[in-house]
Amino acid sequence: MEFLKWIFTPGDFMPHGYCYNWVPGLVWLHVISDSLIFLAYMTIPFTLIHIARRRRDMPFDWMFFCFGVFIVACGLTHAMEVWNLWHAMYWLAAGVKVVTAVSSIGTAILLVQLVPQALKIPSVDALRDVNETLMSQGAAVRASEVKFRGILESAPDAMVIADGQGRIVLVNAETERLFGYGREELIGQLVDVLVPERFRGKHPQHREGYTAHPRTRTMGEGRDLWGLRKDRTEFPVEISLSPIETPEGTLISSAIRDVTASKRAEKALRASEIKFRGILESAPDAMVIADGQGRIVLVNAETERLFGYGREELIGQLVDVLVPERFRGKHPQHREGYTAHPRTRTMGEGRDLWGLRKDTTEFPVEISLSPIETPEGTLISSAIRDVTASKRGEKAVRASEAKFRGILESAPDAMVIADGQGRIVLVNAETERLFRYSREELIGQLVDVLVPERFRGKHPQHREGYTAHPRRRSMGEGRDLWGLRKDLTEFPVEISLSPIESAEGILVTTAIRDISVRRAAEKDLAETAGELGVKHRLLYAVVEGTTDPIYIRDLENRFTMANGACARILQRSVNEVVGSSLRDLLPNDSFDAVAKSDQEIVRAGVPCTLEETVEIDGVNRIFLTTKGPYHDADGKIIGTLGISREITERKKAEEHLVKMVGELKRSNEELQQFAYVASHDLQEPLRMVASFTQLLAKRYQGRLDADADEFISYAVDGSNRMRGLIQDLLVYSRVGTSAKTLQEISSEKALKDALANLRATIQESRAVITHDSLPNLTSDDTQLIQVFQNLVGNAIKYHGPEVPHVHVSATKNGIHEWIFSVRDNGLGIDPQYFERIFVIFQRLHGREEFKGTGIGLAICKKIVERLGGRIWVESQPKEGSTFHFALPERDGK
Ligand code: ADP
Repeated sequence: MEFLKWIFTPGDFMPHGYCYNWVPGLVWLHVISDSLIFLAYMTIPFTLIHIARRRRDMPFDWMFFCFGVFIVACGLTHAMEVWNLWHAMYWLAAGVKVVTAVSSIGTAILLVQLVPQALKIPSVDALRDVNETLMSQGAAVRASEVKFRGILESAPDAMVIADGQGRIVLVNAETERLFGYGREELIGQLVDVLVPERFRGKHPQHREGYTAHPRTRTMGEGRDLWGLRKDRTEFPVEISLSPIETPEGTLISSAIRDVTASKRAEKALRASEIKFRGILESAPDAMVIADGQGRIVLVNAETERLFGYGREELIGQLVDVLVPERFRGKHPQHREGYTAHPRTRTMGEGRDLWGLRKDTTEFPVEISLSPIETPEGTLISSAIRDVTASKRGEKAVRASEAKFRGILESAPDAMVIADGQGRIVLVNAETERLFRYSREELIGQLVDVLVPERFRGKHPQHREGYTAHPRRRSMGEGRDLWGLRKDLTEFPVEISLSPIESAEGILVTTAIRDISVRRAAEKDLAETAGELGVKHRLLYAVVEGTTDPIYIRDLENRFTMANGACARILQRSVNEVVGSSLRDLLPNDSFDAVAKSDQEIVRAGVPCTLEETVEIDGVNRIFLTTKGPYHDADGKIIGTLGISREITERKKAEEHLVKMVGELKRSNEELQQFAYVASHDLQEPLRMVASFTQLLAKRYQGRLDADADEFISYAVDGSNRMRGLIQDLLVYSRVGTSAKTLQEISSEKALKDALANLRATIQESRAVITHDSLPNLTSDDTQLIQVFQNLVGNAIKYHGPEVPHVHVSATKNGIHEWIFSVRDNGLGIDPQYFERIFVIFQRLHGREEFKGTGIGLAICKKIVERLGGRIWVESQPKEGSTFHFALPERDGK
């Protein structure tokens, strides 16, 4: 406190105004000046603080503070000057000055230290310059951005710029076009959205790899890359990546190119290169390709063959190596001449050219040159042909042409060869014959002349179509083609076309065949098919109309065809039967039997007829079946075809008949036996009765009364008749029992024996018996005598008023029988009795009229039939009768 008091105490000092003697002017001049300085000094810190606060970026801002303190201190010294004019506080003033001194010295020292740094601060001019540069640079940046965007947008590739995380930050119009997204859809998305899913897994990894070592390069070297459109379709791409450094980090720019087209082009190029190499290798000439300096760059296989060098020996050599030494001098000159005016031409026109082999032999050549423009300059391709053989060759060509002409002329088709414009250049003889033009009339004409007018309109068009894609094919596939003759008649044709490469361009060979004959045949075929249709219907009607089952079975017993009758018998529908196996339709036993016979047919391969017993629905039914092998179109047996007829009822009837016949035979045999026994055994008592009645008649005739005589004569008559009957019966029954003794006999002798037996009768009736010459035959003579005797006997017996005439004859018929005929001129027989007279005991006349037993013809019938023949009569009452009997001719007799 004491100090402060002391400080603010004037003490013994005089105010400073005394120094100025209080001269008012001087005092006030000091007061005003110091006050103004003080005020000014006091405001400056504020300005400095204001600046320092507003411009925080200013360097050395602490210096403003130092300046502020220093200036305030200075201001205070000036304020003290004014104060001290009237108050002598010199200690205070000195204190203020000390502060001022300290602050100014500090500031001065700091300022000195600051000088190097301050000098580094650019001057305003420099800053202005810098500013201007910056301004102009800013404009350039803007311009470059516009340009960059322009380039980006107009880039032919899709440009996708993504950040380090793979998020798209920029795309161009081509990206929108290529991927089908709007750019607003893409910005902010992961680039993966443009990559097919199957590649996405590895994508982040690749991206990181790239971000780690970013440089401009193509992506996925060697791998196929694919882009994915918004519509999920994919397309092959080529991607080239480049990093873009930005203040925000490295961006990756991807230039994506759709290589769909170039992939195709690449393929085409490869194909064309392969083709070129193929052409080169397969060229018939030695091809030597050399550069402008005459160094060989490529040769083909033929060159190796022709010159005897391996290609590795030739590549890089001068072409001169292939030229004999004597020509080499001028060669470079010629080559230069050619390089100056390269065009396709033959070399050394008119001169003889020679090639030189590795073994130094020479051979005549023909060389044709052509320039090949390549990016590396013009190459010269020489096609070198060994013409040693060409002299010989010319001959061969002539021969081959003659051969070709020969073939052409002898071709069965009309051959018309035309050029690309459709003008006929060659025709053959068949063309002349078919179209009735001579060849000189045709050569040079358009081929249209051979085409009916109504087709000519489209012809040039078709021709052009063909010339564009010439290949061997038939013309107008599916259409009817017609040829036009010179006489304007038309005929159907078939045409086949083939191109011929010739020196003059493509010629078209047309082989024309007249198919009118074939057409007619086809028509016939169609008619035949029609007939076949009718036949088929007929066959169907027969197959379906018959009541006999008809069927086809395959080798596995399955029905492949069955008619309605077959289905009915099996009690199923046709559909059920066809496809079913017989095994499923029949019980086992029946199936086994039928299948066995089927197998037999297939094995033997020939048809046969057999009886089959088949159990259907518990009933055995019998069929008479004709079965045969069924063949396919190649003649292979693929089953059996059968037709069956049910004979169950007939079979029953037959069995019954057989039984009956058996019984009948037995009873007949019994009857015969009985007749024989009876007639034989009756003979003895009858003979007794007859002889005693005859004795009675002889002894007592006329001794008894008249009645007794009459009775005795009846008894005699009866016993005689009985004897006749019994003898006839015995004969009849013997025919059945006596063994036949067949041997060669003369029928004429048999007749004569018969007539001898009838001698008395003949004499009595004075009958006239005639006969033709009668044959020898194998038979039973006793029985034949019997037959003749009965027939001739009857012919005499049943005579009319005239003397009986009997004629016996024999003829042979077509079925190996001898027909014997006994013709008389007697009473004749009413046709109604023709059958009856051959039955035993049947007579047409009374006993009083004609004697007889009615057994004679029955005996004849029995004998003839036992000899295998037959007997019959032809007659009319009062016109005589002819009895015929037929006997089989045995062993030609
Ligand atoms: P028979 O002569 O003993 O009466 P046949 O059996 O020989 O017995 O003849 C049967 C009958 O056929 C005869 O009764 C006769 O009426 C008739 N007949 C046979 N032959 C002749 C013939 N040649 N002319 C006319 N009638 C005949």
